[in-house]
Amino acid sequence: MPQIPTPLQIAGSLATFHPDLRLIGPDALAGRHPGEHEDNLGAGVVAQPASTAAVMALIDWCRQNGVSIVPQGGLSGLVGGGVSDAGQVILTSIRLNRIIAVHLEEETVEVEAGVTLEALQAALAPHGLTTGIDLGSRGSATIGGMVSTNAGGILAFRNGVMRHQILGLEAVLPSGALFSDMTRVVKVSAGPDLKQLFIGGEGAFGFVTKVVMKVEPLRPHRAVALLGVADAGRALQVAARLRRHGALVLEAAEMMWPRYLRDHAALKGFDLSWLEDDAAVLLVEISAQSADHATTLLEDELAAIWDEADIKGAIFAQSSEQARRFWDLREDSGFYFSAFPQAPSFDVSLPPTLVDGYVVEITSRLRSIGIGYDAYIYGHIADGNLHIALATPGPLPSDTKQLVEDAVYHGITACGGSFSAEHGVGLDKRQAYLAHADPGKQALARQLKSLLDPDGLFNPGKVPF
Ligand SMILES: Cc1cc2nc3c(=O)[nH]c(=O)nc-3n(C[C@H](O)[C@H](O)[C@H](O)COP(=O)(O)OP(=O)(O)OC[C@H]3O[C@@H](n4cnc5c(N)ncnc54)[C@H](O)[C@@H]3O)c2cc1C
Repeated sequence: MPQIPTPLQIAGSLATFHPDLRLIGPDALAGRHPGEHEDNLGAGVVAQPASTAAVMALIDWCRQNGVSIVPQGGLSGLVGGGVSDAGQVILTSIRLNRIIAVHLEEETVEVEAGVTLEALQAALAPHGLTTGIDLGSRGSATIGGMVSTNAGGILAFRNGVMRHQILGLEAVLPSGALFSDMTRVVKVSAGPDLKQLFIGGEGAFGFVTKVVMKVEPLRPHRAVALLGVADAGRALQVAARLRRHGALVLEAAEMMWPRYLRDHAALKGFDLSWLEDDAAVLLVEISAQSADHATTLLEDELAAIWDEADIKGAIFAQSSEQARRFWDLREDSGFYFSAFPQAPSFDVSLPPTLVDGYVVEITSRLRSIGIGYDAYIYGHIADGNLHIALATPGPLPSDTKQLVEDAVYHGITACGGSFSAEHGVGLDKRQAYLAHADPGKQALARQLKSLLDPDGLFNPGKVPF
């Protein structure tokens, strides 16, 4: 058995390795925040390249020395895809953070992988542009991480997910060779689109270094409201009406089911007295020509559909600060982890019109397991993406865990949905991948993995490719 090198040995070997490579060793890493998973920094050695050449040289060194690599970006991933262990090297994009070019008329941008979503949005804003994708984790999520998880977020119902935003991509393969396809155009009909392998590849097929991305006009004049709705069907009715209106653009349709709403509002001191009964809440945001116009249009449209959609109360944000408070209710979603540490959580998608039936079924299925479980449910309703967290601390005993997963995933793929909508597979959804991903697709992914990474160097132990 070859000896696994210690973090100190790896750090020592790489100390003066390449002028564009900075190394953070175990001592300097102690006490650093590990991001969304406590074991992200377990390797104890972080390589921070500032150029593609340094990435290539490092990967070549790792290959020659049999050291496996864990790619990382902003560490905001929610499925343990960035977890690392002693004997491995963390390869982070943090210093690959240049915005290379903004092509104003083309509405495209070329960026390095470590640029955060928020930094890109800030750089585009003075040009009257923004990204066509947006996430609550915008301050830490990097473009490279978002490519690797095929991130979705708030605008996916209109613009698609990360896959639909990426025109070109550069990555370094496990062999150390460069894959370069920095296409700047939408139309390419020249064989299969091989860069798709890295989009949603979760760091298993190589390290993404640069991309070309679509961007879109910034629409700063907004109106935001919270509406009481009986169910997802009514919420979709409202969203559909707003989407079809010629003078406004629907920017968000986010839903929170009663338990999520009630507990979060109580924690935040958010007044829900305007809300009838035990309704769910739909957050809608629209943009229009001016802020006043946006407010009038939203009020008029909701008044017009009020009875038909059985709206159970509404409040309109009167200032950007109030709009932020509305959004905090939806985006500060990790609140339940303080009451229920490691609460088991899920991220599923299904055709939006099937959401109500699914919510009724899982609620009853979860209640019938053992002591009975209740769930916090919220999500991006217009594209059918639900986040579900049990109101119970985790981890669950393995037999109960299996029953819960069976309850949550039952019928999801059969109805055309997914057991993992936007967070990826990582460590946490491995079993779900094996149980629910199409066996033919799994076999092809494994073949591709063994072709590109025969030594299993890239992000081993995560998605079972
Ligand atoms: C509050 C909050 C809200 C969120 N909201 C959303 C949401 O609305 N929609 C959504 O989709 N996600 C959401 N997420 C999840 C998370 O932000 C995304 O998964 C994001 O895409 C991860 O980006 P990252 O840079 O943090 O990647 P990391 O967490 O560092 O890594 C994620 C995965 O990508 C791989 N990876 C990272 N960089 C590279 C690279 N350069 N090359 C190859 N592989 C790489 C890693 O190995 C890992 O498998 C949210 C997270 C939080 C904490």
